[in-house]
Amino acid sequence: MKIFSVWVVSCILAMGLGLHAGPGRAGAEPPAPVSLDQACQAISGKLASVDFEGCRQSGLLCTHAFSSEGFPLLLKEYPPLAHREPQSRVLVLGGTHGDEYSSISIIFKWMEILDVHHSGLFHWVFVPLLNPDGLLRENSTRTNHRGVDINRNFPSPLWLEVGYQRWVDTVRRNPRYYPGPQAMSEPETQFLVELIQRFRPHAIISVHAPLGLVDYDGPGTPPKSLGSLPLRKLGNYPGTLGNYASDFGVPVITLELESAGRLPSHSEISAMWRDLVRWLVHSTPLPSWGVIEAHNPGPLLDEAFFAK
Ligand SMILES: [Zn+2]
Repeated sequence: MKIFSVWVVSCILAMGLGLHAGPGRAGAEPPAPVSLDQACQAISGKLASVDFEGCRQSGLLCTHAFSSEGFPLLLKEYPPLAHREPQSRVLVLGGTHGDEYSSISIIFKWMEILDVHHSGLFHWVFVPLLNPDGLLRENSTRTNHRGVDINRNFPSPLWLEVGYQRWVDTVRRNPRYYPGPQAMSEPETQFLVELIQRFRPHAIISVHAPLGLVDYDGPGTPPKSLGSLPLRKLGNYPGTLGNYASDFGVPVITLELESAGRLPSHSEISAMWRDLVRWLVHSTPLPSWGVIEAHNPGPLLDEAFFAK
């Protein structure tokens, strides 16, 4: 069952149907639509480790969602196989911050591994680049096109009282961490929240750089390490993906690679992947998941997701 296959025929078609719904667009000319080929051209032009042909033929799909600059938000699904009920659903995410190049490249490397080894054990969705506008600027930025830190824009319960206020008081309005005018104000955040609500992952893996550690939010037991990266919890911060998703019981592993500009070695990329899969095998789904799911009835992402 390939639940996303009916999503979108092409990015341009989605734009033509008027599905672009980025904020601040009222009355403004939407940016020129970007096709999957153009998207892969742009990504491979920026990231030496991402090959244009490989990206084009990787099975990435355009969703209905676009960045403010008209760049399609791409995903790849490794759906359940006919003979095997998957143990868990897992969402893997890179490029929330556009200047953390390695966090995008490693997602492409892991997809290459899974292209060969997908066994049906898990039902995966990969979003390799959540913040294309930040990456594709001449000088890549952490924030998106509108200057918002997507990883401070998720609708946590205390987004305003604690999250936004900390940006004012503690971070002294540092623009790198601007949480936005309100929670979920950004098209990239809206896309991911909708994806989480529809896909209902049992675990989320989000890659960043360059702190060189593994952070963990939510219930369950975190991995002690992934590859050479040790577990070191950074604490709660309303507005982050970890804070948002763990609030309703989804564990979030935040993998902080050691360098934003340099990929780990081939063997380290493989070691991280092995450790990640081992943790997923032993730790998901959480015993509490049945309770969570019971409160979220309804189908997974399917064609209805596009019928807007
Ligand atoms: Zn980051």
